[in-house]
Amino acid sequence: MIDIRPIALTALILSTALGACAGLDTRLPDIEAPDLAAETQFQETEALRKIESDAGIYLNAGWPVLTANAPLCPKTRAAIGVKTHSLKSYSKRLRSAAGRVLGADEYPRIFHIADGSPAAFAGFKRGDIILNDENEPAKLGSKNWNTLLADDTVTVRRGAENISLNVTPVMSCDYNLRLRNSTVINAFADGRNITMTTGMMDFVQSDSELALIIGHELAHNTMGHIRKTVGNYILSFGATRHTRPFESEADYVGLYYLVRAGYSPEGVESFWQRLSTIAPKGISRAKTHPTFPDRYLRIKAARDEILAKQKTGAALVPNFINKDSASDS
Ligand SMILES: [Zn+2]
Repeated sequence: MIDIRPIALTALILSTALGACAGLDTRLPDIEAPDLAAETQFQETEALRKIESDAGIYLNAGWPVLTANAPLCPKTRAAIGVKTHSLKSYSKRLRSAAGRVLGADEYPRIFHIADGSPAAFAGFKRGDIILNDENEPAKLGSKNWNTLLADDTVTVRRGAENISLNVTPVMSCDYNLRLRNSTVINAFADGRNITMTTGMMDFVQSDSELALIIGHELAHNTMGHIRKTVGNYILSFGATRHTRPFESEADYVGLYYLVRAGYSPEGVESFWQRLSTIAPKGISRAKTHPTFPDRYLRIKAARDEILAKQKTGAALVPNFINKDSASDS
């Protein structure tokens, strides 16, 4: 066998795999096709239930952050606190299962309703399709929401019925909460979305920690870091040397966003200590991001700054270098 070149070896493996496992030294137990189909269906169902659960947790944690901080966001829109989905929200492999398990189809249907949101009070239900003035399924881009919610009445299709619901929207920072299926623990902002990996959803231990990450990404969006980083990128051929300060600023501003949304900042900095136990490189490595000890200490210091402001009743806004740019309405 040693003189078989790699390409020939590959061909050999493929042919034996197809040929009733000749070449294996052991006899594998047989499995039945119906059992395989049933187990496949079971695993698809479990995977989709997990996505469903994560999406609900994410919306509930993010809704207060996006709405409480609307006065500090450059991009806002009217919102009622719903997350919609359709078959397109799922990877192609999971689409038929998403229809079966979650009731997704070609229309954007309400998937989750944030606790305490206008939609929750108005009686919106999962599966509702939001309709436009022509009683057709509405497009749900940010401009469309402002139009749809202009007169405090929204019509939904529920089953075969069209139902009018009275709802008073609130202003929300205009960034979509998106989940990405990935075991990598990460989150990112692109100026339009706040994307959380399912790995991060599994890693955070409380809604406060999740809000810490959401606040951080929201800050990247609101502070114009995306635009500034792209600017740097173009000028310096890929060397994003302003990334590290931006990360620290997003941690700092994001902590204010968390507190303004009603979350307790108590102990949230321990996120960085926990992360260090599974990603020890981050303890001393600071190529694009600050080190974990640096982030831990700065978040702790920012938390003390915020707690001091809460005690004196001072406005909960970050300390801007140019004082004219700080405003809380
Ligand atoms: Zn960041």
